[in-house]
This record gives sequence, C-alpha cells and structure tokens, in this order.
Amino acid sequence: MSTVPTIELNDGNTIPQLGFGVFQIDPGETAEAVAEALRVGYRHIDTAEMYGNEEGVGEAIRASGLDRSEVYVTSKLNNGYHEPDDARRAFEGTLEALGFDYVDLFLIHWPLPTLYDGDYVSTWKTLEEFKAEGRSRSIGVSNFEAAHLERLAAEADVVPAVNQIELHPYLQNREVDSYGREHGIATQAWSPIAQGAVLDDPVITEIAERLGRTPAQVVLRWHIERGNIVFPKSTTPERMRENFELFDFELEPGDHEAIDALDRGEEGRTGPHPDSFAYVPG
Ligand code: NDP
Repeated sequence: MSTVPTIELNDGNTIPQLGFGVFQIDPGETAEAVAEALRVGYRHIDTAEMYGNEEGVGEAIRASGLDRSEVYVTSKLNNGYHEPDDARRAFEGTLEALGFDYVDLFLIHWPLPTLYDGDYVSTWKTLEEFKAEGRSRSIGVSNFEAAHLERLAAEADVVPAVNQIELHPYLQNREVDSYGREHGIATQAWSPIAQGAVLDDPVITEIAERLGRTPAQVVLRWHIERGNIVFPKSTTPERMRENFELFDFELEPGDHEAIDALDRGEEGRTGPHPDSFAYVPG
C-alpha cells in the first residue's frame, strides 16, 4: 500500500497530504463510498455541512473498526452561519452529525465579503474558540483571497493553518497560493483534477503515456510534488485506488514546467469567484 506523506501545519499538527473528498456524493451513498475509501487506505476525509453528508462520513469511520485518531476529518462552516452565535450552533451540529467530539480541521467555507458586513473576522474569532477548546484541532479557511488573509493577519490572533482553494492545472491561483507559502498557510487544492476537465489535455496525456500512468495520477502527482494537500472525489472504486497510487513514481525534468504552462488564469476557473460568491442556503 502507498504511504501517504504528512504535512506539518503552522500549529504543529500534521495532516495526510492525500485524502478523499465527498462533495456531490449523495448522502445516502456516502457511508459506502467512505467505507470503500478507508479500505483502499485513505485516512483523511474532507466533508462540509453544505454537502449534507457528514452523517455518512462519521458512520463509515465508526463502522471501519479504525480508531477515531487514525482518520483525519475536516468539515466546514456553511454560508448561513457566519454570525458568531450561529457559527457556534453550526459547529455543534457538525460534531453531532459526525458523531465525534472533535474534528481535526474546521474551515470557514467561503469568505462572503459582500454579506454580514463583510465581517468574516468575527466568524474567524469564533473558530479560534473552537481551537482553544480543543474541539477543532486545527482551524483554517477556504476560498480566501490574499486580501482576505491580509485582513485576518491584521485583525485576528491565529493564522489559518490552511486555505482550501480551487487549484488545478487550468487555474493555478498563483497569487493566493504564493501568499499562503510566504505566510505558513498550507494550500489545499480543491477540484484537483478540475472534475476531470484537465484529463484529456495533450500535455497531460503525453506525460501519462511516457510514465505509464493515468492522466489523473499525473495531475495529482504534480500537486503532491508542489506541496499541495489534495482530496480527489470519486465514487468509482477503481478510480479511488488509482488516485491513491501516487507515491511510487515521480514526474520527470520539464514536466512541472509543461503543466505550469497550462494555467488559463480566470478562464480556467470552474467554481464561483470568492469576491462575489454570496450563496446562502435557504
Ligand atoms: P475532483 O477534481 O476531485 O473531480 C471529481 C470528478 O472527477 C468526479 O466526477 C469523478 O468521477 C472524476 N474522477 C475522479 N477520479 C478520476 C480518475 N482517476 N479518472 C477520471 N475521472 C475521475 O473534483 P471535486 O470538485 O469533487 O473536488 C474534490 C474535493 O474538493 C471535493 O470532494 C470536496 O471535498 C473539495 N471541494 C471543496 C470546495 C470548497 O469550496 N472548499 C469546492 C469543491 C470541492 P466519479 O466519482 O464518477 O468517479
């Protein structure tokens, strides 16, 4: 079985660099998908209240026979709950849905700078409480732009351990990624294979053929060698295994430069822009 490296976060905790994401997995199918991922060897699950499937994640981990401490679990604060009291209730709800008394990592899912008077700082200070209480071992943010991180640096005490952002060969998000690297904030790359959109790219398929690997493995290996934390999603057991087999090969000289050159900037973005995204579930 592959050995997944760990990354040390700025608070001294460690996180497996490769995990399993459960966005868009039907709540009724999540426990089975996570159970299969755990059988494959994944020990890091990325969920969110917004995905509606935290229950299935907790259920599968309990049923696996693994100790809670052997699986790294991340969840996220949904967009409707940025006010501190709402955030406290939502966090309780996440722990209850998972059936655990702590999460390893809890994130503000989106900054929502156009809502709540743009006050994601008080939301962040509420996450600082969860960390101080030990109920979230680490805390971080998601979809924060460099300006949002600057504001936290100026107005809050704890530096986010991670920033989870859209990042793949077509959207390399360099400004945010560099800000994180310079300030000790680990980059988690969501949609690491752009939900499959990068897999037919001739640059990727050429490398895959040369190395005798699949296009998904090449792209995920590119992330790993850059130091990104990734958690590809798949409900196909064969692909779950494929995406886990990343640690017995390396890209060759020139491959990074070739993949780096695929960046399309904003045109490569598949999700909403964090500066304008203002969706709050009804
Ligand atoms: P991914 O880039 O992981 O792609 C998932 C898609 O690619 C699925 O359709 C899957 O199909 C397919 N796929 C997976 N592996 C392979 C493979 N080896 N070959 C071919 N196709 C493959 O997209 P996600 O958007 O799911 O991102 C991953 C995770 O990131 C999410 O699950 C979630 O945890 C997180 N995320 C966070 C966001 C945030 O705002 N913080 C936003 C979006 C995602 P199939 O399942 O049918 O196999």
